[in-house]
Formats: sequence, structure tokens, C-alpha cells
Amino acid sequence: MIYDVVIVGAGVIGGMLARELSKYNLSICVLERDNDVACGASKANSGIVHGGFDPEPDTLKAKLNVEGVEKLFETAKMLNVPIKRNGSFVCAFGEDENEAITELYERGIKNGVEGLKILSGDEARKEEPLLSDKITSVLSVSNAGIVCPYDLTVAAIGNAMDNDVQLKCNFEVSEIAKNDGIFTVTAISGEEVKAKYVVNCAGGNSDKIAKMVGDNSFDIIPRAGEYLLLDKAEGTRVSHTIFQVPSKEGKGILVSPTVDGNLLTGPTACVVDCAENKCTTIEGMNTVIKLAAKSVPSVNFRNVITSFCGVRSSEKNGDFIIEESKAQKGFVNVAAIDSPGLSSCVAIAEYTVDILKSIGLSLVENKNFNGSRENPHFFREMSYEQKNEYIKEHPAFGKIICRCETVSEGEILAAIKRNPPATDIDGVKRRTRSGMGRCQGGFCGPYVMKLIAEQNNIPLTKVTKNGKGSEMVADKI
Ligand SMILES: Cc1cc2nc3c(=O)[nH]c(=O)nc-3n(C[C@H](O)[C@H](O)[C@H](O)COP(=O)(O)OP(=O)(O)OC[C@H]3O[C@@H](n4cnc5c(N)ncnc54)[C@H](O)[C@@H]3O)c2cc1C
Repeated sequence: MIYDVVIVGAGVIGGMLARELSKYNLSICVLERDNDVACGASKANSGIVHGGFDPEPDTLKAKLNVEGVEKLFETAKMLNVPIKRNGSFVCAFGEDENEAITELYERGIKNGVEGLKILSGDEARKEEPLLSDKITSVLSVSNAGIVCPYDLTVAAIGNAMDNDVQLKCNFEVSEIAKNDGIFTVTAISGEEVKAKYVVNCAGGNSDKIAKMVGDNSFDIIPRAGEYLLLDKAEGTRVSHTIFQVPSKEGKGILVSPTVDGNLLTGPTACVVDCAENKCTTIEGMNTVIKLAAKSVPSVNFRNVITSFCGVRSSEKNGDFIIEESKAQKGFVNVAAIDSPGLSSCVAIAEYTVDILKSIGLSLVENKNFNGSRENPHFFREMSYEQKNEYIKEHPAFGKIICRCETVSEGEILAAIKRNPPATDIDGVKRRTRSGMGRCQGGFCGPYVMKLIAEQNNIPLTKVTKNGKGSEMVADKI
């Protein structure tokens, strides 16, 4: 079969693009190297819907961030992905930084951001009493929000699959050739897929994918960001996302509630050797603790439940690269999508569809397209009475597997069955929160393994944490 469009990379960008393209009568296939979707930068980031004041005016970043915010809120609602408009505060410490706040405000106005306001330190502390008393002024951004990035990615790709998009995981693209107007995309395993158009959404590897068609026009600079995630006991310390004045390295260390009720602190910004280098370091953690405490001194870091690292795909010119490659017709790069890529993802998807149209892709409306997705978290949002009624009909929902996050067997089975199906322990974790609480899977892990083995009819020795090579148990003793 020859697909109309093949998308390389199942992150939030590849996922949103697949969903956008599924609005038309097209055959689409998403190729992903890993065992699951949302395993790159879209798994490990701050989850902030940025207002749009930070990017330099007249860049793609500024345009797509500002256009993207409302589109993202609308889309997340359609997909039943929790999203919250909690607003953000950018905090200045002292006279010099007060000036930076004014500059950011003016840049935001130029970019077309609404809801910007400059507050004094005291005004800000009225809204956020636990802010440091050393904060002298604050840029308040009321349109900003928070969303769970992997929840959004899973939902976007799941919805695209519900609308007939194909997903092939464990397909690591190693070669792309074009003959007689048709691309052949080959995986390391030797499997081949053919397509009329190829879109490169491979995040940290997008430069390597571009080079496969002779496009050497950009190189990705991988920049790691380390985080500390705190227990829900810390989750209400602030209600806004608290930033410090950004520097050349990025937006700095934030303190933010998450949509799931935890408190997130980080990220650092450090150039690393490759996009796969997701190590956390003692230096990184110390930096996060020191700088987060500068904004909100009362954060209790004894309540950290995990640390993690995500890697940004930056490029020397600092802007997103979204265009048809000059080296190969029909091959479109959607690359260097570092922050605010999550905030801009729906706008990026629409912009890319316009490019594909301008280079000849025929777009005929898919009358059967259904843009909404059943709420995967419906059970946890029910009242006790509703849960009792539901359990009478669906007993698996009455059996709690993850005690920290109160996740039932019914929810785990649904995650294993629905699009895109979870096939490993981390996949179940990202879809249900099983293993995301204080014990980090210590209790529920073995039960989740058993359910994955039973549902897929495989032995326990074949169940993995996150794909081949991460098998959980070796043998029976
Ligand atoms: C630390 C950090 C903080 C951030 N904070 C924010 C924020 O708060 N707000 C915001 O708007 N943005 C933020 N971002 C940016 C945001 O995370 C990214 O813009 C977004 O996730 C990029 O998505 P993507 O799909 O392009 O890349 P990815 O999610 O990395 O997806 C690329 C996919 O391609 C796959 N792939 C790679 N090579 C191959 C191959 N050879 N064959 C097949 N598949 C391949 C990968 O496995 C991966 O799944 C942050 C990023 C980081 C790292």
C-alpha cells in the first residue's frame, strides 16, 4: 500500500498532525521508534500552556504560540484531556529584573498576547501568599495554563487512530529513498512503508531524519531539563505557574501545580551529547531546589516523589523549522520544536497541513471524522455513589490496583485495549497514573504486569517496563 502521508515520530507534534490530517480523506501512517507514543520530549516537559509573551516578535514561535493557546484549550476539551487556565507569574527580584518585566510585557503586547498585567511584589503576594518577599514585581499572564503533555499526546494519537490513522511502534526509521515520486521509508528491522509525502516530526532526531533525504540544513542541539516532582501534599502551595525572569538558557526554574494535583519544580537547561541522554544529576537537582526555593521558600523538598529529565530539540537560529525541505520535494520538516512546542501543537499541526496542501496534497473533507474522544478518566471523576452504581455493572472497576492514585483494574484494562493500546508498564502508567504516586509502582507494578501478560496472552517474562531490553523478570524460580 502507498500511504498519502507518513509521519515520522509519535510525539505531541506528530500526534496532533495525524489528528488534523484525519479530518480529510487520506491514508496516514505514523512511525515511532519506541514501544509507545509520547516517549520523547512530549513525555518529560513542564506541561505549561505558555501565554506567548516570551518568543521574539515576528518569529514562527511567536505566531504559533499566540494562535495556538486557544486552539489547544478547545482541542483538549474535545479530547477530554484535563487542562486548566491557572495563569502564570513571571517574578523579578530587584531593580534590574523589574526592567526585564517591562520588556517582557511590551514583547507580549507586540506578539498579540491578551491578559497581561504588571503587579508589584505585594499585589502578587496577595494572590500567592507563599511567594518570596524578595520578589519586587511580577508579569501576570492570565491566558496561560497547565496540561498533562503525555495525556494530550496519547489522546491526540488515539483520536487519530479512531479516525483510521495507522500507528506502527518499534519502527526506527533508518533510511528514506524516493523513486518515481514515491518515498520508501525503511526501518532498522528492514520493514518498509511507502508514501507520497513524508513529514519529519522526529524531535531530537529530526536532523538525522532530514539528512536521510540529503537535507543538511540544520542540526539539533539537545538541551536537557531536569525536574523534581513533589507529592500532592505540596500541590496547593501555589495556584499559578511561578517563573523567574527568563535568561538566554531559557525560561528558568518554575514552581507549578500540575493538572493532577502535584507540584512540579524545574527544569534546568544544559546542552547534552544526544537527545537520548535523559540522566538526572545531583548538580541538576541542587540547582532546581535552590532556584525553586528562591521563588517559593516554603516548598518542602522532603516531599519529592521522583526526578526526571526531558531533552529539548533546539536549533542555533532559535525558531521552529516548519517547511518543505529544499533538498527533497514532498518531504516536510517540522523540526526544532522546543518550547513553546506543546502550547503551539495544534497551531503547528494546522500550519503543517497548509504547507502540505500548498505542495500538492489534495484535501477532501472526511465526513466521518469524529474529533472527540471518550474521557479515559471518567471513573476517577465520579462521585462515590456513581462509582458504586458503575461497579455493579463493571466489577473490574471495584478492584483497586494502584492504592496511591486509586486506579482500578477496569481503568488499566481499558488502557490496554483502547487506542493507542498500552503494551508496557510505563504505557499503563502514562494512561492511568497507576505507579505515579508515592510508592512509584512498588505495590501495583506486579499486578499491572499480570494484566498486561493476560490481555496480550504472553508470559510474564515478556512484559517490559518500556520496550525490548527492559523485561521486568528474567525467569521463574
Ligand atoms: C525540559 C522541557 C520543558 C518543556 N516545557 C514546555 C512547556 O512547558 N510548554 C511548552 O509549550 N513546551 C515545552 N517544551 C517543549 C515541548 O516538550 C516540545 O515542543 C514537544 O514535546 C515536541 O514534540 P515533538 O513531537 O516534536 O517531539 P518528541 O515528543 O520528542 O517526539 C519525537 C518522536 O520521534 C521519535 N523518533 C525519533 N527518531 C525516530 C526514528 N528514527 N524513527 C521513528 N521515530 C523516531 C521519538 O521516539 C519521539 O517519540 C519543553 C521541552 C522540554 C524538553
